[in-house]
Amino acid sequence: MTTPADQTAAAVVAIARAMDDAGLAPNKSGNVSCRTASGFLITPSGLPYRELTPADIAELDANGEIKAASRRPSSEWRMHTAIYRERPEVQAIVHTHSPKATALACAQRGIPAFHYMIALAGGGIRCAPYATFGSDELAANAIVALEGRRAALLANHGVIAVGSSLRKAFAAAVEVENMAGQYLALLAAGLEPKVLDDAEMARVIDKFADYGR
Ligand code: 13P
Ligand code: ZN
Repeated sequence: MTTPADQTAAAVVAIARAMDDAGLAPNKSGNVSCRTASGFLITPSGLPYRELTPADIAELDANGEIKAASRRPSSEWRMHTAIYRERPEVQAIVHTHSPKATALACAQRGIPAFHYMIALAGGGIRCAPYATFGSDELAANAIVALEGRRAALLANHGVIAVGSSLRKAFAAAVEVENMAGQYLALLAAGLEPKVLDDAEMARVIDKFADYGR
């Protein structure tokens, strides 16, 4: 019999593979998790996504303690634990080292509201200050950068995207990479991005609430 936890583990694997297929996780970088009733499921550390199966997905409680794991959970379990604790509406998290967004992150530069699609992230994307991967400091910096947002850059590291479902967290990560490419193209051309103001962002966020329904 397939349990709800099995189904969630399979969904985490599917999104991790999609992230890899989309080129967002070069050389096995990044990780994916999904909230459960008592904590969350998360990808294992360092295992190439093409080898990943639902049996490799670790189950952690809300404090980040291992409940069940056949492999070591992602080294970023502290960041995932902190986000689920601080952001009750978040159901899933996708962390990537997607190339263009990571290039901006390595300049410690966020992405301003130069395109209306930035509303998918809730507004201009901040870049969290640098901290060592897997550290409590990185988790704390990510929480601050994500305030009121569904995505942030992590300095000299990558992207963190959250959502009310795995699909939405993945879509946010894809869109961050897309916008990073557009923003870099503008900068490379020596053009000055014209940034949309907060009132326009608020209008777009409002329209997104029932877009595509
Ligand atoms: P894990 O393989 O341990 O999840 O680490 C990848 C990563 O992106 C660390 O920031
Ligand atoms: Zn990482």
